[in-house]
Amino acid sequence: MDELRLAGAKAAAIMADHLEGVGERPVWRPVPDGELAWLTGQELPETGRPLDELLEDARAHVLPYPMGNGHPRFFGWVNSPPNPAGVLVEPLAAALNPSCAGGDHAGPHLERTVVRWLAGLVGFPHPPGGGLLTSGASMATVICLATARQRAALADGWDAREEGLSGRPAMVMYVTEEGHSCLHKAAQLLGLGARNVRTVPVDGAYRMDVAALRAMIDEDLAAGLRPFCVAGSAGTVNSGAVDPLDEIADVAASYGLWFHVDGAYGALGVLADGAAPHYAGLARADSLALDPHKWLGVPVGCGCALLRDPAAARAAFSLVPSYLVDENAGDLGWFSEYGPEQTRPFRALKTWATLSHLGRSGVKRLVDHTTGLARTLAAMVERAPDFELLAPVTTSITAFRHLPGDGGDPDALNQAIPVAVQARGNAFLTGTRLGGRAALRACFLHPDTTEQDLVVLLDEIRLAAKAL
Ligand SMILES: *Cc1c(COP(=O)(O)O)cnc(C)c1O
Repeated sequence: MDELRLAGAKAAAIMADHLEGVGERPVWRPVPDGELAWLTGQELPETGRPLDELLEDARAHVLPYPMGNGHPRFFGWVNSPPNPAGVLVEPLAAALNPSCAGGDHAGPHLERTVVRWLAGLVGFPHPPGGGLLTSGASMATVICLATARQRAALADGWDAREEGLSGRPAMVMYVTEEGHSCLHKAAQLLGLGARNVRTVPVDGAYRMDVAALRAMIDEDLAAGLRPFCVAGSAGTVNSGAVDPLDEIADVAASYGLWFHVDGAYGALGVLADGAAPHYAGLARADSLALDPHKWLGVPVGCGCALLRDPAAARAAFSLVPSYLVDENAGDLGWFSEYGPEQTRPFRALKTWATLSHLGRSGVKRLVDHTTGLARTLAAMVERAPDFELLAPVTTSITAFRHLPGDGGDPDALNQAIPVAVQARGNAFLTGTRLGGRAALRACFLHPDTTEQDLVVLLDEIRLAAKAL
């Protein structure tokens, strides 16, 4: 163990050096050919190598080539810097190395607390057992939609797990064009069929048009189909829009649909000053997907599925063979009865550490700071004659575009800008299409991003555009 003790101290130093120096290095840089050969072309060593050598290799060949999301000027997609408390305890979780499928050990018990804390932070109802940690929101969405599917089948007097879906009226789900791809993937994986996922139109602020939702449900009912679920977004990736959740909840209630909310990125936005009215109705959902590895900064990966009726999820997933029966499992049973994973990593420790380190006020401060940055960038964009704001800011995402000075094609220009900005290494942003137009979007999640960084971002976009 002396080798581990020594190498462990060195690993801690390497980790601290890395995190301390993040801001001084390029946000991102391409992996050079020589390093790519090292990363992809190694042969498995015949004899094992000492720990110290492995650390040296990691320091030389791995840590210098990050994705970029630790840097305060990383504004791409929805990827946060790791919270230091979460980083700190990762080796402890690995040292313990439990399977948190269930049982009487620290991991599953701590997971109960963490899930309760997450529900409490966003004001979601939390009956005992009302949620579980997952690899991310994609898996949380599979859990929630599979639960919705089985509940709808049971309500109609049949069992989707037993029979499969063939010969039954198509189950239809409703989501806007701004809804995340994971909703579509989950629907496809569950055998619902991509063609049975309806695209509900959005209003000028990219929020679900609820009158159109009603009309589509009526039409599907008239056609003999089985509308079963509507999925609203609490913070879309494109613009951070929050659907009118309260109105959607009314529709779901009147038609007996499952109401799922994708709050993977944005659910925590409810904590920001003045934001609560946008989230009215969130607590009426049947299920909520929320990613601790997004805004909270819990090291990847950690998602969470929250369920109003945990028994419905258990009905959709529980399958306990004799070799897994646990006489001590208690009323709630094992976590593995509520989702597809059997062996489950100890995600609760890094989430507990991150939440405990921030405290409720720290989470709110982070959300206020980053939503403030998004609003400030929007104001700068509106003041600048060479930029245009493309969507109102509700969370911590600003969607905008650069206007070419020469009257050229803004679509072509804005499509090319993200990669050109990334290559310069001083900022990182990504693009999308919004309302049929090429858009730039900056997402703010880093506690150390400053207003000066926003000035740098706009300058970097101008310089990159000029070079194009
Ligand atoms: C990230 C994200 C997802 C997918 O979650 P993963 O954690 O990547 O599986 C779904 N919806 C939204 C809004 C997201 O930001």
